[in-house]
Amino acid sequence: MSTMLEVTDLGHTYPGKDGPHTAIDALGFTVAAGELVCVVGPSGCGKSTLLRTIAGLVTPSRGRVSLHGTPVDGVPADLAVVFQDYSRSLFPWLSVQKNVEFPLRSLPRAERAARAAEALTSVGLEGAGRKYPWQLSGGMQQRVAIARALAYRPALLLMDEPFASVDAQTRFELEDLLLRVRREQDTTVLLVTHDIDESVYLADRVLVLSKSPATVVAQLPVELGAERDQITTRASDEFVELRAKVAGLLQGTPAPAAEPATR
Ligand code: ADP
Repeated sequence: MSTMLEVTDLGHTYPGKDGPHTAIDALGFTVAAGELVCVVGPSGCGKSTLLRTIAGLVTPSRGRVSLHGTPVDGVPADLAVVFQDYSRSLFPWLSVQKNVEFPLRSLPRAERAARAAEALTSVGLEGAGRKYPWQLSGGMQQRVAIARALAYRPALLLMDEPFASVDAQTRFELEDLLLRVRREQDTTVLLVTHDIDESVYLADRVLVLSKSPATVVAQLPVELGAERDQITTRASDEFVELRAKVAGLLQGTPAPAAEPATR
């Protein structure tokens, strides 16, 4: 598999009133094309800073980010980001269809419409194109945000706590939706979460970060197969074991069988 994302010796220090604050330090990892990698770490450890740096929204103080071999310098054209707060990422004055079409402005109108309709269907919102975001539930609005990202067909989809603002049942549905569309479309995904169970349930590999300033503590391959199920997968021995391993690493307790960095 080819390398989609390469993060090398990445560090970022914010200037602050009380002196500089290093949010991330000496971070290094890669993501292969087609892989779904979850980044899990304690609150405030620098996960969003990492994602914003990869998205070109923050210029790192140190190190490098490359997207399919090209150094990231500004916001890359073939990258999409889904944030936690759907209410602020969708335009309330545009219909659902127009929201999804928004990043496709450079395409001919018919292609824009076709791609948006396809993306809305893939997230189970066919027929909702004429509605406005505020007419939809929170879970449906986040589906629109995901559809907008998918319609763009990004080389890399970045997700920052994308399911943290919805109720537990909707969260499960959206997790399964992500697994399905990623299988169907072979999307490369880097997803940040503070939820250990979610990281194990979704990922091909879990990247565990330390407390601030974040460094990579371990990378754990998740061998739960492509077909996962909220009830049986979460109850399986492999899942329970991995979840304990991640929890141990987050608490700073060395897990006996923890894998060293694999890629
Ligand atoms: P996480 O996403 O893991 O909760 P963040 O990346 O949001 O962590 O933040 C990491 C650290 O950097 C925190 O201590 C936070 O207060 C600080 N931080 C984040 N953004 C800024 C900023 N724009 N200016 C100064 N400090 C910041």
